[in-house]
Amino acid sequence: MPHNDNLLLASLSPGDLAALQPHLKLAHFEQEQVLYEAGDTIDATYFPTSAVISIVVTLSSGQVVEAAMVGRDGVIGASAALDGKTALSRAVIQLSGEAMVCSSAGLRGAAMQSQPLLSLLIRHEQTLYAQAQQSTACMAAHHVDARLCRWLLRSRDLSQSDTLLFTQEFLAEMLGVNRTSVTVVAHTLQQAGIIQYTRGKIRITNLVGLQDAACECYEAVKSQYQGLLGEPKHQSL
Ligand SMILES: [Zn+2]
Repeated sequence: MPHNDNLLLASLSPGDLAALQPHLKLAHFEQEQVLYEAGDTIDATYFPTSAVISIVVTLSSGQVVEAAMVGRDGVIGASAALDGKTALSRAVIQLSGEAMVCSSAGLRGAAMQSQPLLSLLIRHEQTLYAQAQQSTACMAAHHVDARLCRWLLRSRDLSQSDTLLFTQEFLAEMLGVNRTSVTVVAHTLQQAGIIQYTRGKIRITNLVGLQDAACECYEAVKSQYQGLLGEPKHQSL
């Protein structure tokens, strides 16, 4: 069942899942597709199964910077079920793939009938908030090469693939740096045998090397999500 590929849905009790099931449908999303803009009304929530989604802040200059990355360990737009009906930031597809889409009304209705589901959604929003706080600290304190490694590792976990289809422009935008910085770091990592970079595609060739080069924020966010999901026995990132 596709819903099992989203770890939040997979963690639900049979009763909670049955309540959501009529409101869920699988959909495909393409890279750079915008799910909603800041200020939009949230009328759908997205439980990614293979798609990876970025929550980004947009500045008046047109620059965008990523605050959090959400994939199969999370949900986008769950605050609508908790009465936060307006999006506060942009949600954009970072890696093409699929997500289970749930109507906000359906999620809200199910959450109001189930304390465990309501608790899970509240804990998820706390985890998302913690991830955004970690991103703030990371940007202020960590070097761009360690940040890029952190970012590639989380992308790998969420997409479950060692090959990531990213252009240097997109990477620069997500990391809030100029393209030249990304080019320099990607070249250094390639020289070290950690990644192979061709136009629009990054392949991770030395996972341990990438982990060693990443800042602590990768593990910090990972452990927060493991706490949220109660470290499921059969499905891990
Ligand atoms: Zn960091």
